[in-house]
Amino acid sequence: MAERDLVEQIRERADFIEIVSRYVALKKSGKNYIGPCPFHADKTPSFTVSPDKKLFHCFGCGEGGDLFQFVMKMEKLEFAEAVERLAQQFGVPLGRRSASPLQKLKEINERVAAFYQTNLVSPAGAKAREHLKQRGFSKETIEKFKLGYALPKWDDLIKTFPKDLESLITVGLVLRSSEERLYDRFRDRLIFPIWSLTGEIIGFAGRTLGDEEPKYLNIANTPLFEKGTVLYGLNFAREAARQRDLFVLVEGYTDVISAHQLGIKNVVAGMGTALTASQAQLLKRFASNVILAYDRDAAGRIATLRGMANLRNAELEVAVALLPDGSDPDGFLRAHGAEKFVQLLDRSLPFYEFYLSALWEEHDPKTVVGKERVLQSLSEFLPTLSSTALRHEITREAARVLNLPEEEVARAVKAVKRAGIISPPATAEPAWGHEEQVLYFVLQGDLTISHLKEVVSVEDFTRYPEIARALWELNEEWTLEALLTRLSAEDQVTVRRLALAQPPWREGDRPRALVEAPLRLRQRRIEERIARLCAQLRTAQRAGDHERVNALETEHWQLVQARRRLLQGGRRTQ
Ligand SMILES: [Zn+2]
Repeated sequence: MAERDLVEQIRERADFIEIVSRYVALKKSGKNYIGPCPFHADKTPSFTVSPDKKLFHCFGCGEGGDLFQFVMKMEKLEFAEAVERLAQQFGVPLGRRSASPLQKLKEINERVAAFYQTNLVSPAGAKAREHLKQRGFSKETIEKFKLGYALPKWDDLIKTFPKDLESLITVGLVLRSSEERLYDRFRDRLIFPIWSLTGEIIGFAGRTLGDEEPKYLNIANTPLFEKGTVLYGLNFAREAARQRDLFVLVEGYTDVISAHQLGIKNVVAGMGTALTASQAQLLKRFASNVILAYDRDAAGRIATLRGMANLRNAELEVAVALLPDGSDPDGFLRAHGAEKFVQLLDRSLPFYEFYLSALWEEHDPKTVVGKERVLQSLSEFLPTLSSTALRHEITREAARVLNLPEEEVARAVKAVKRAGIISPPATAEPAWGHEEQVLYFVLQGDLTISHLKEVVSVEDFTRYPEIARALWELNEEWTLEALLTRLSAEDQVTVRRLALAQPPWREGDRPRALVEAPLRLRQRRIEERIARLCAQLRTAQRAGDHERVNALETEHWQLVQARRRLLQGGRRTQ
């Protein structure tokens, strides 16, 4: 039987509650069941199972997943073994299956990688070869990283590996359309195999050769590959990193490849999401220092800051290398060479200094509005740091620049945090900000994606950009399962938590919260843009740049109108 159908059949037949009850004493609580968590020393019943959503989640330690993940974690099994065991228990026929399905999946990945490599050196690969040549990648480098090329065809893999269709679907290389048609995931793309820590090919990414979006396409999560637990290049970098006790983290695959080609071998990249706690643990196994070398824009992003907090919390020393405006490591290395890049790394800033300097760049600490914004940002960021000493250090430095007493800053940070919450959150549940509320309603099926798209845009989600992007892509056809397979481990925790959460408002307030949450999210973004414009306006006025003042005033007026319409719209629908 096909792998996918097998998994579906088991999911349908198995009684999730009955299986969990073999290990945990569950009690009914509303629509869900709760009990003491089997994965951590749990005093309160933090462990929640939803029979409707077929999900479990612990609000204490964050463990969670579906039926298969529960059995894998409880019995320390691999995915294929858990499938096998559950199939036997629930009388689902297994059909013809080889001894080690995971091994089979790794083998198909190897064969596909070799196939893509052949395409690259064939006449049809000329355009891709030219692209690599312009990047200055040598033949040895291309072979070492097994770079390849997917032809502009919808069924190249399907026709080349007709006997392995099921495996190709399982490893994410062949997709099924909504009309059940099969097609290759990668077409006319440069192919980057992604390796496990031990050098096995566990996934692929494809880069366009033209301008189409997205520039990079990853496979979704599979039994071999989970986004938030993998670092690109780690198999090549681990030894050098151990020797130097240092990793250099970059953003892109080509940044990694350029660095390795020039002999800087302790370089790895994330997988396009904020660095997760499990990636941080992985790095920690080999070195205790990390330097982030991102382009300026990326370095300031909230997702990056969240990643830095994860690294810090794994007790890694974190610093940030400041690349010149508009350049990424790949471009910098090509333009200036390895020596200059190493000098840049040597001059990197400790991470908290970088964080504060980014704050001062964004907000004017001399104005009241600027001070408020800084306190807001601190109140969101500081709680993500587990080190008390570091939190104090940042508070002290912020107080100095803001010219406020330290205790005032500490108190204000706490007060701002409280004001953003509708009511005090339950134990171990984080703040219910606007984004959490909106996602909660979507996950409960109360808010459709099309309605959401009318009010807010993906950019309004600054805490959970990846979750929003995945929902936007999946559109009305989203399911909890499809959503979860697209996310990093960390975002999966957020989704499970919000899917099974008890909301902080009383049942009677629910309709109002449902209307207001997306409006408030939109409003917050508009307020932020207005504040930024005001700062730019003042600068332009001081500089006597009348043309710019005019342009900014027009934009400001439009935003104020947009805010007014939004607030009126909100009232009208109530
Ligand atoms: Zn737990």
